[in-house]
Amino acid sequence: MATLFRDKAVESIERGALEKYQLTYLRKSVESALKTPFYQKRLKKAGISCADKIKSLEDLDRIPFTVKDDLRESYPRGLLAVDIKDVVRIHTSSGTTGIPTVIYHTQHDLDCWTELVTRSIYACGVRDEDVFQNMMTYGMFTGGLGLHYGAERLGSLVIPSSSGNTQRQLQLMKDFQTTVVHATPSYMFHLATKIGEFGFTLKDLFLKKAFLGAEPYSENTRRKIEDFFKIDVYNSYGLSEMNGPGVAFECVEKNNMHLWEDAYIMEIIHPQTGKRVPDGEEGELVLTTLCRQATPLLRYRTRDLTMIMPDPCPCGRTHRRIFRITGRTDDMMIINGVNVFPSQIEQVIMRVPEVGNNYQICLTREGALDRLTVKVEIYSKLFAGDLSELEKLKAKIRDMLKASIIINPVVELHEPGSLPSFELKSKRVVDLREKL
Ligand code: ADP
Ligand code: ZN
Repeated sequence: MATLFRDKAVESIERGALEKYQLTYLRKSVESALKTPFYQKRLKKAGISCADKIKSLEDLDRIPFTVKDDLRESYPRGLLAVDIKDVVRIHTSSGTTGIPTVIYHTQHDLDCWTELVTRSIYACGVRDEDVFQNMMTYGMFTGGLGLHYGAERLGSLVIPSSSGNTQRQLQLMKDFQTTVVHATPSYMFHLATKIGEFGFTLKDLFLKKAFLGAEPYSENTRRKIEDFFKIDVYNSYGLSEMNGPGVAFECVEKNNMHLWEDAYIMEIIHPQTGKRVPDGEEGELVLTTLCRQATPLLRYRTRDLTMIMPDPCPCGRTHRRIFRITGRTDDMMIINGVNVFPSQIEQVIMRVPEVGNNYQICLTREGALDRLTVKVEIYSKLFAGDLSELEKLKAKIRDMLKASIIINPVVELHEPGSLPSFELKSKRVVDLREKL
């Protein structure tokens, strides 16, 4: 039987050995962090003047959190730990939530990152005979180059098609018999909508797998995409502050994502109190880099909500898994005083078989009250049917949403292709409350 591991010794390392390794590399990270103007100040204030002060992994608690604003305030070089001559590349975040942040990489950093990606996609069964089409944007965004180098190192044939130009993507997929793609879930939905329009059918495609990430999506969305394309979808998680993709990835079990603990120390904290929560409980993911020279980050608050899966994975990897990201602490909507995450809405509507590939969440204000409108695309054949059926469908979706989020939304049904679609990260929420 073909080996399941890219590097069995590392991927199935015994817990005690892993923790020993983590401590050694945590010390190294602290040592190099102390070379940056930002951490020099921050760590000395916390009484950590040298790496020797870190005697065990418990001492992690003595290190203050690093937040996104720290990165912004340290722009452009406040977090650089090496001489500029040793830096070979920078990446910035996509800036979804404000000014982008910059991360520097040495060649060693890039090599480590590439290995994490190679390991991740190998765990999903990608091999050198695969043809890998990378439909994520190349450039500053890490989804392009990150996966690119990982797949090349594995020996797959890489098509660096980048995002956009759907007709060309489909043509490339057909001509080169693409077996694996990397994209956002929104873009896969977009492809599904456009495939017929551009004169292709599923018979033209050779697709087996897709790595989907960069934005939250539910299990129902995964299933919808898998059923449409007849493929396996694997969840891929990363953020530019932690290199990019390759931080956590699903294995062939498709049951949540192994977070590579030889490269990152993970913690899950309560977003308000900052206290660590037990495994199996949701909170904010906090990560510390263990193998990055140019921009070490200590206890970085990702703002992403997830939890540590308490059970080991049957695949034999000992690196613990995190649950699919359910949202970011900063994308929570407060609607008439009730906290709602967009992912809660997505989870409900993607369970409805009549609902197609796209939706939008609109917030408006009427008098003193907020109004939530959920617009969903439904399959076109439904519009040809009985009007009362459409009313029933609307009521069904409204009731399902109400049961999940407490708020009573207005539900609108739209024809396929009529709501905005996205080539990279989607923007599902339109909040017009401030502007009204
Ligand atoms: P930005 O913060 O500007 O969006 P990045 O391009 O670095 O910057 O995006 C990283 C973020 O994308 C993560 O912090 C997370 O919120 C989201 N993300 C990445 N992968 C996933 C995934 N598989 N599931 C859910 N969200 C994801
Ligand atoms: Zn596994």
